[in-house]
Amino acid sequence: MSEAETENDGEVRVFAQYARDFEEEADVVVVGSGPAGSVMTYELARAGHRVILVEEGPPFTPSEFRADGNISMARTLREGGLRSTTGTFMPILQAICLGGGSLVNSAMCVRPPNFIFDEWSTRFDLERTTRADLDPHFDAVSDFLGIAPTPDDVQGPRNLLFRDGCDALGIESESVARNVRGCRGSGECLTGCRSRAKQSMDISYIPEAIKLGARVLTSLQVQQVLGEEPKVRGVAGKVVEPFSGRTSHSFKIHARWVVLAAGCMATPILLQKSGDLANASGQVGRNLQFHPGAAVAGVFPEELNPVFGATQGYQSLAFLREGFKLETMWSAPAALAVRVPGLGADLVRRFGELPRTAIWDAIASTHRSLGTVKPRFRSMNPVIRWQLDPEDLKVMLRSIHVLAQIFFAAGAEKILPGVHGLPQEIHSIEEAEVLREPEVSPGSLVTASSHIFCTTRMHGDPAKGVVDETGACHGFDNLYIADTGIFPRCPSVNPMFTVMALAHRQAQALGERI
Ligand SMILES: Cc1cc2nc3c(=O)[nH]c(=O)nc-3n(C[C@H](O)[C@H](O)[C@H](O)COP(=O)(O)OP(=O)(O)OC[C@H]3O[C@@H](n4cnc5c(N)ncnc54)[C@H](O)[C@@H]3O)c2cc1C
Ligand code: SF4
Repeated sequence: MSEAETENDGEVRVFAQYARDFEEEADVVVVGSGPAGSVMTYELARAGHRVILVEEGPPFTPSEFRADGNISMARTLREGGLRSTTGTFMPILQAICLGGGSLVNSAMCVRPPNFIFDEWSTRFDLERTTRADLDPHFDAVSDFLGIAPTPDDVQGPRNLLFRDGCDALGIESESVARNVRGCRGSGECLTGCRSRAKQSMDISYIPEAIKLGARVLTSLQVQQVLGEEPKVRGVAGKVVEPFSGRTSHSFKIHARWVVLAAGCMATPILLQKSGDLANASGQVGRNLQFHPGAAVAGVFPEELNPVFGATQGYQSLAFLREGFKLETMWSAPAALAVRVPGLGADLVRRFGELPRTAIWDAIASTHRSLGTVKPRFRSMNPVIRWQLDPEDLKVMLRSIHVLAQIFFAAGAEKILPGVHGLPQEIHSIEEAEVLREPEVSPGSLVTASSHIFCTTRMHGDPAKGVVDETGACHGFDNLYIADTGIFPRCPSVNPMFTVMALAHRQAQALGERI
């Protein structure tokens, strides 16, 4: 019997429990416990298969969450929250923990509109990837996680003012559907939900998968996929200490089927470090796309108590065809500080205004702005090159101008647009005219992204994509990819729900083959 089988069956295995090198064996090994990997693990275990889920990060309990945004990011995000692109500089937020992004995200669950899937299916030869094809899978995930619109009693003023501003301008808006049960509106989704209302994977799909016999091994960094085209044999890597990243014992997991769900950056790195596996098309690590976010702060005459309210409770899908989506947001003040301009007394005054401040953001479908992901020397971290296209910059600036209009329609006395080279504060809709197509460079925006796509894209044509419609790697019998890397194009809305619906469908397809 192997080391890992002798102890702790039925629980999540953690760093302190690895005493020596070990080997394991399963029907399926799933690499990565984010939304996609967790849905795959649960559904395959439910179908009666022996599944091992491997995760590099540690599990977190509520007492281990840190409300200080900077400390939280250092503990739960890749490269301590300092991962960024070269080319056009942009910070990138990616989780390293049991549950992946679901532990530290805002729980927004949004189905992309029909026109997105129409484009996916026609431009990328994906005939069975229409919204109608995927709706039953969205429904199954929604039922499992209890996804429902955010009720007004936990919205708080900063979310409801967004609705009021949209109403005043005749812009459609809606309460955000989220995977929460009993949300108290504490506004701290991004540092971990201490009341465990958010149905992150570590308290939803993963424990249910364990009940069905799945085994979950954390603090294991997969460094190599074993085997070669057309058949892989499992994965290998090292035990890794939480937070320090120090590696120790070696492990191997032999499996008849391998599912890579390590996320849009790590999966292409793994393939490239495994002898450029599954790259006959040359598309592994290419086509990288983001939804960069631009946040605008608005200061109101009255106190808003902005720490109260669902982290991201309201949204508008009215501008998706123009290329952006509008949302409300909140974050720990230490993290919001990057959006507060000025020095000395100015800075102190602006911090003093935080109780009257709402933050609303726009995410842009910058599909013209492409990048690449390549391995860093002697590291599993990526080198990420990405350039913001001038046309996409225009879309982002337009979204900031629309946010300005909504702020002033809702009664804001001033906004902080967050664009270098433009006034730090704007006091009226007339002054906001400076936001209309200003001459600024891509580096002028204060932006970041946690939505990342397309580095192992789906394409019906094996010469143009890495996986087929079921997530199976072209040219392979038993290698699958299930994460946002398989999206053929950015989805224009928050991606978690879509990657889970796709994973639900993939698990069915794979389950039928095993
Ligand atoms: C701060 C933040 C807020 C967000 N808000 C929302 C939101 O409200 N709604 C929404 O739809 N989306 C949101 N997102 C995006 C969403 O969380 C991601 O798109 C989603 O988590 C992607 O799922 P995934 O399964 O593809 O990958 P991930 O969630 O990234 O999971 C991949 C997992 O694989 C593990 N892994 C990586 N490499 C290895 C390796 N070599 N060995 C073993 N394990 C490995 C990682 O540690 C990670 O746990 C947010 C993301 C962040 C970071
Ligand atoms: S707003 Fe607070 S209570 Fe609600 S899901 Fe987020 S962290 Fe949990």
